[in-house]
Amino acid sequence: MLLTLARLTRRLDLQSGDRAIPLLVLRLPEFERIAWREGRPAARRLESATSAAFAQAAARSLRAGDVCAHDRRSDIYVVAMCAASRGSRAPAAMDCRATLERIAAAISQVRDLAISSGWTIVNGAVAGDLDRHIHVALERGAWERERHDFFSAVGHELRTPLTSISGYLETLLEERLDAATRRRFLQTARREALRLGRLLDGMFAFSLLDLSVSPSGLPACRLLAELDSAVEAIRPAARLRGMEIVRTPFPEMEVAIAPDACTQALGNVLQNAVKYGRECGTIGVSVECRTPFVCIAIDDDGPGIDAGEREAIFGLRVRGAAAEQRPGSGIGLALVRAMLRHVGGDIRVAESPLGGARFELTVPLAGRNR
Ligand code: ADP
Repeated sequence: MLLTLARLTRRLDLQSGDRAIPLLVLRLPEFERIAWREGRPAARRLESATSAAFAQAAARSLRAGDVCAHDRRSDIYVVAMCAASRGSRAPAAMDCRATLERIAAAISQVRDLAISSGWTIVNGAVAGDLDRHIHVALERGAWERERHDFFSAVGHELRTPLTSISGYLETLLEERLDAATRRRFLQTARREALRLGRLLDGMFAFSLLDLSVSPSGLPACRLLAELDSAVEAIRPAARLRGMEIVRTPFPEMEVAIAPDACTQALGNVLQNAVKYGRECGTIGVSVECRTPFVCIAIDDDGPGIDAGEREAIFGLRVRGAAAEQRPGSGIGLALVRAMLRHVGGDIRVAESPLGGARFELTVPLAGRNR
């Protein structure tokens, strides 16, 4: 049975002051939009179906004495885990999150609505303060999700050098190579391992959530050297797919971005060209100076990207049509755009003369007033 929020407040007031009661909150902000778009009766029907799904899912996860609450026409659903059998020990955060996820999944089956959720611990009397606790719970939920996205991004970025290192090591183990090639492969693998270490150090400082912080000092690197290192790192993966990487020659130039950020941005786009490009196809890499910027174009002859999708794929956790049956997390391009914009550059996608996608990365030349 669902109580009203006012009755839930009274119920919580009756609890003894030293008990830690988890309060789980779900909010469905789209009710309002649905009412506006589809009319009040449709919004009410959806609300009662949602409330029924909420009550059923909550009943499956809860104990006797726990309480569920919702006010008609509000977009807030609350669970207070105040069953006496839980005692006064604070529950594990994992349990709260898992219960929230189960309830949210059940609600999503009614209709795929955006759900924000979160939890908090309430101690003792809360009269008149339920709104504040709901607010605190939802804020914590948003923060937890941001943190989760950030660490997924870190994991994704760490996988790039790891894949490259394993590719080189596998080739070294399986193929008969001359001493000079073996040495070159080992050097590349070692360079990637060092980059992995730097990424690990740097990632925790480079907060995806606060890219507004200005870079310390004025970073700069040599583009040709970084591009070479990114191409070498990706070559084993390209070879496995029978692809050729064709790099148009260009002179060395200094660009205003930190060396690791530069290799990482180029590496992400090259990795996508290998992943989404045509089997046994070609990847083209060319550079053009458009003072005060340098423009690096990475082309492939894969399926390309539909005009309607070209902006969306730079969003965090957005995967496009080509992503079907290819592993990924939709984070790489968002990170590349964030890194480039951070230094005053950018990335965009167009149609490639090779027939697939062309990613154009612009990076400011070093030593210019921007
Ligand atoms: P992921 O590859 O993990 O999905 P990204 O952020 O790197 O994430 O890319 C976002 C989406 O952009 C991909 O899911 C894919 O649909 C599209 N995409 C990226 N690169 C290419 C490419 N070279 N050719 C076709 N589609 C691409």
